[in-house]
Amino acid sequence: MSTLIQPPPKTVTKKLPKVGIVSLGCPKALVDSERIITRLRAEGYQIAPDYQGADLVLVNTCGFLDSARDESLDAIGEAIEANGRVIVTGCLGAEPDVIEKAHPKVLAITGPHQYEAVMEAVHTHLTAPHNPHLDLVPEAGMRLTPRHYAYLKISEGCNNRCSFCIIPKLRGDLASRPIHHVLTEAEKLVAAGVKELLVISQDTSAYGLDIRYKPETWRGTEYETRFLDLAKGLGSLGVWTRMHYVYPYPHVDAVIPLMAEGLITPYLDIPFQHASANVLKAMKRPAKQDKVLDRIRQWRRDVPDLAIRSTFIVGFPGETEEDFETLLEFIREARIDRAGCFRYENVAHAESQALPGHVPEEVKEERWHRFMQVQADVSAARAEIQVGTVQDVIVDGPSDEAGIMVARTKADAPDVDAVVYLDSATHLRAGDIVPAAIHGADDYDLYGAPA
Ligand code: SF4
Repeated sequence: MSTLIQPPPKTVTKKLPKVGIVSLGCPKALVDSERIITRLRAEGYQIAPDYQGADLVLVNTCGFLDSARDESLDAIGEAIEANGRVIVTGCLGAEPDVIEKAHPKVLAITGPHQYEAVMEAVHTHLTAPHNPHLDLVPEAGMRLTPRHYAYLKISEGCNNRCSFCIIPKLRGDLASRPIHHVLTEAEKLVAAGVKELLVISQDTSAYGLDIRYKPETWRGTEYETRFLDLAKGLGSLGVWTRMHYVYPYPHVDAVIPLMAEGLITPYLDIPFQHASANVLKAMKRPAKQDKVLDRIRQWRRDVPDLAIRSTFIVGFPGETEEDFETLLEFIREARIDRAGCFRYENVAHAESQALPGHVPEEVKEERWHRFMQVQADVSAARAEIQVGTVQDVIVDGPSDEAGIMVARTKADAPDVDAVVYLDSATHLRAGDIVPAAIHGADDYDLYGAPA
């Protein structure tokens, strides 16, 4: 069952046209939904919290993996059944024939980032109110994340052509947002109470390449539209800044000193996907793997508390037992602190479908379990050395267990990484950043109390 985005209570009235929104997929899709909601609210539409109260439903789909496509098609079907008037947007919208075949009753289909087309479709099927309540829109736009953290999307699309990925087909080539626009948005978010910025894109380290690193002026200082200057600008805002989807290109080294100085959160999310040269070649991954281990060791010397998060695919076509062992060795040697692991999926239209040597499902399954065990050991070793230390943590809110608050250290991004369970902390509020004494740990999570 899909959940509709819940508006703040005061935003629902009886008189104004109401749109229900179902947002599926990754944080990038969530940012798209936020932009659409901001536009809807700016034009005076209301956001309906359920299918019955909505005049139409907008489903923002994901089309990356077959499982995500199925989930998107199910969500569209559910919305049609419950409401009847449905507009589809997002990644799967790039394949209208698939949607139309499964759900001929959808009112309109638009692709990813087609904000104008989505709004046009909404206007066609649900007339805009005459007096837009512009004052209802907060200056920082409408956000779907809790008030204390926000995703900051710096670019769309990707210039790489990894063989398992159809994102460039769905979202096109890299299109970077000018740096002064990104920094201004970040500044507004901070002014609205955001304490943690999560920088996202498909390839954060390639930021600005498509616009030749165009220089712009922001607050009297010139910044080039590139990764390092972005880090400097965001670092000046005084909040936690996390870099996601960074490739280990040599120029990433230049950002490490900013982490050492405390300007950028010591956290890198690097989607390595694999470590064996054969598999990486078949994957057509950007950035060479040679010397990656040496560079990680140097980063850790410069920033001892650096946390590295990554994602990996096991069972890629042609992956041998030896390739897989190379991957496990890499996880141990590089001490990948946090990792997501996916069993290879034969995504429709991906080049990797045609590769030889597809790995049987039971082998993928077995490798996935072995991977998770090695990763749990690495994560547990990190957790254990935190016991007895005092760490700054950001509070996310109360846990399901009475009297316990959930927080995160700088090593943990929301939703995907570990947490710290805090006792004696019910006086704290979401977004508070406090020192916490860590007194226990399991494989992933920590236990502590305000210091
Ligand atoms: S870097 Fe590769 S996996 Fe990531 S979006 Fe680009 S093509 Fe896809």
